[in-house]
Amino acid sequence: MSKTLLKLRPRMRSEWLSILTAAYLLFFMNWTFWSKSSLYLEGHGAALAVLALGLLAAFTALLVTFSAKYLIKPALILFILSAVASAWFMDRFGVIIDTEMIRNAIETNQAEAGHLVTGAFILHLVLFGLLPSLFIAWVEVVHRPILRKLAVNLMIILPCLLVFALAGFSNSGTFIFSIRQHRDWFHTLNPVFPVASAASFLVKQSSEQTIVLQPLGTDAKVVDALPTVQRKPRVTVIVVGETARAKNFQLGGYARATNPELAKQDIVYFPNTSSCGTATAVSVPCMFSVYGRADYSHAKALASEDLMDVLTHAGIKTEWWDNNTGDKSVADRIKKIDFFRSNDPRYCSGGECLDQILVDGLDAWLDKIDGDAVLVLHQLGNHGPAYYLRYPEAFRTFGPDCRTVDFDSCTPETITNAYDNALLYTDHILSEVINRLRDREDRLDGAMFYMSDHGESLGENGLYLHGAPYMFAPEEQTHIPFVLWTAPGLDQSTGIDRACLATNAGEPHSHDNLFHSVLGLMQVKTEVYDPALDIFAKCRSGVSS
Ligand SMILES: [Zn+2]
Repeated sequence: MSKTLLKLRPRMRSEWLSILTAAYLLFFMNWTFWSKSSLYLEGHGAALAVLALGLLAAFTALLVTFSAKYLIKPALILFILSAVASAWFMDRFGVIIDTEMIRNAIETNQAEAGHLVTGAFILHLVLFGLLPSLFIAWVEVVHRPILRKLAVNLMIILPCLLVFALAGFSNSGTFIFSIRQHRDWFHTLNPVFPVASAASFLVKQSSEQTIVLQPLGTDAKVVDALPTVQRKPRVTVIVVGETARAKNFQLGGYARATNPELAKQDIVYFPNTSSCGTATAVSVPCMFSVYGRADYSHAKALASEDLMDVLTHAGIKTEWWDNNTGDKSVADRIKKIDFFRSNDPRYCSGGECLDQILVDGLDAWLDKIDGDAVLVLHQLGNHGPAYYLRYPEAFRTFGPDCRTVDFDSCTPETITNAYDNALLYTDHILSEVINRLRDREDRLDGAMFYMSDHGESLGENGLYLHGAPYMFAPEEQTHIPFVLWTAPGLDQSTGIDRACLATNAGEPHSHDNLFHSVLGLMQVKTEVYDPALDIFAKCRSGVSS
């Protein structure tokens, strides 16, 4: 450090530095929290003031805990940097940084992460994170002798905790009522909730290291319910969608023609389907897990084999083709191909590829099939915020479309236009999969399942993207499209009554149905199969079960 800088260097007692930082974090890094607070406590001005005072006391108590030599500067800088990064995503997109959001961020790929790191984000980090951090690094902190410091810290912390408790008690009725009404409220308290979530994620992660995988459905085998003399190989293609929401599906009543191709196919659309999670890292393993949403956890999924393994045990050929951020361990034990790594110049740029890359290899693959098979296509679909990169020029139907990841420079209408164009392209991809299966009807009995992994918020209530904690996630993030196509030959050989399926399609369905319906469709008998969750079980004719 130069001599002038050293001369100008401010001196500050460590507890004052902690208190200053507490106030900075609470009042400058909590725009979302305070806007929710003023909304939820409307008409309760006194409670709002008491809340501010109580939280300032709590933040002070927390940061004074770190007021010790060698600890104070790194701790305060860490709090500031995590608060600044979290504030950007909370204030801009309305996201909540819980453990699943952290898992999703860690499991994403570079190209996906790159879309979120914009120039405006870097500027925000520098102005509100780097500059205050440099100031903290520069300040000469005056420390007291250790025992005296401990006493002073306690003399600050204990009264602060008392003020915090009194603040809570004084308006407890109002606070408890508002917290119950608005469960998202304190999840936006920055950086307390994000830092606690990161800590909890690390604890979960380390306990998951010791998980031992248990086999599942090793008794599985294909047993044809109908005594067909000879049947064709059954081939099911499961398309795992990305970020498609039911609300914008023409098949579900959306006013725009986002499904012109599927509308012409002989499909069944299930308009009332919900996802297991609101993020890829939850939904994808959950869809293939034997556990339903109510019982699912990441640890349980890691501890058990999944649908792909059960199918493999039954002697069915299984493969996973990925054009997304990976299979989330679902396909760990089967053949998988990562198409996004292929860098095929016809479809790929910047580490991402258009979904056509998944369809291209399908002809050659289907031509080689001579037995029962299940193929998963994990598409990039509507992955945001760069919706405009998800479709080629020919699908730029709804316009003008937002062509940047900086939503601030787009209107909600142009963002929706780009989103709808990406859906239109998915409609084409799904229809192409069906066409390829249909082209081989003389040789194969084909089926296509399409379910999106979760939905997306497009500005409703100020929310964008997805990943809201499930218990208060908006319907836009959990209501997903579910499309089924089965070849007439397959209906015949497995006794599926299509009219019955169509009649029941409006009933509530969910990701819970995928595991058992695929087993049912492939005629796999195993003790882990639950007919109550098989969408075909109620709609079979000529089958004595
Ligand atoms: Zn996803």
